[in-house]
Amino acid sequence: MKIEAEIQSTRKETHDVKTLELVPERKIDFVPGQYCLVSMDVDDGSKGRKPFTFASPPTRDHVELTIKRMGDFTEALHNLKKGDRLILDGPRGNSLNFDESVDKDVVFLAGGSGITPFISAIRYAIDKDLSNTMTLIFSNRTKKDIIYREELKGIDRKENMDVINTLTDSWPEDWDEETGLIDGDMLKKYVEHLGKKLWYICGPPPMIDSLEKILMEEKIPEENIRYEKWMIPGKGTE
Ligand SMILES: Cc1cc2nc3c(=O)[nH]c(=O)nc-3n(C[C@H](O)[C@H](O)[C@H](O)COP(=O)(O)OP(=O)(O)OC[C@H]3O[C@@H](n4cnc5c(N)ncnc54)[C@H](O)[C@@H]3O)c2cc1C
Repeated sequence: MKIEAEIQSTRKETHDVKTLELVPERKIDFVPGQYCLVSMDVDDGSKGRKPFTFASPPTRDHVELTIKRMGDFTEALHNLKKGDRLILDGPRGNSLNFDESVDKDVVFLAGGSGITPFISAIRYAIDKDLSNTMTLIFSNRTKKDIIYREELKGIDRKENMDVINTLTDSWPEDWDEETGLIDGDMLKKYVEHLGKKLWYICGPPPMIDSLEKILMEEKIPEENIRYEKWMIPGKGTE
C-alpha cells in the first residue's frame, strides 16, 4: 500500500546517519521489524524505490526512518527538509517481525544501520511494557558510528534489557565495552541458555553468514533464528 508522508523533522544521529520523522497521511499498520520501499517521486512511486525499515514502533503516531548515507539515493534523503514528502510503499517483510505474540526472550545481533528493526522492537516493548528479556549486541566499526548511543544507554539501564556494544576497527583508550567481531565466546558471556532464546540478526550479508554459522555451532535450533540480509540495494526486496 502506498502512503504519502510529510517530513516533520530531521535529526542527525551520527556523522553519516540521519533520522527522518514523518507524518503519514493515514496510519500505517506495521509490525516492528517490517520495512517499506521509499520513493521521493510523488508522481510516479515506481521510480527509484529503496527499502528502509520502520525505526519507530507502531505504537506512535509518527513514523521514523533512520538512514545511513551510502550512495545517491540515501544522499538525496539526507538532503530533504521539513515539509518535503515521501511515498512509503509497505509494510513489507516478515523475517524480523516482533510483537507481543513472541513469548520467548530475544537476542538481537545488529551491525551498523541493521539496528533499525530492533530499535523499533525495543521501543515497542517499552511502550507496551512487555516482559520479554531483550539483549542487543550491537557491532560497529568505531565509536562514532554507534547510532542511538544515548537512548541505548537508557535502554541498558532497564531491568529486562541489556545493550552490549562491540567495536571492530578502532576504539578509544578508555573504551570499556567489547572489541572485535561477535563470536561464540561473546554470546556465551552475555546470554544464558542460548538454545532457549529467539535470535534475530540484521546487517550486511557477510555478517549474517558468519553469525548464522556461529549460532549453528552453538546448537541453536534453526527455528529460533531469524535474519534479514540487507542485500546490495534494490536486489532481492522487490
Ligand atoms: C529490507 C531492507 C531494509 C533496509 N533498511 C534500512 C534502514 O532502515 N536504514 C538504512 O540506512 N538502510 C537500510 N537498508 C539498506 C538501504 O536500502 C541501502 O543502504 C540503500 O538502498 C542504499 O542506496 P544508495 O542509492 O544510497 O546507495 P547505492 O549507490 O545503491 O550504494 C552505495 C554503495 O554502498 C554499497 N551498499 C549499500 N547498501 C549496502 C548494504 N545494505 N550492504 C552492503 N553494501 C551496501 C553498495 O554496494 C554500493 O557500493 C535496508 C535494506 C533492506 C534490503
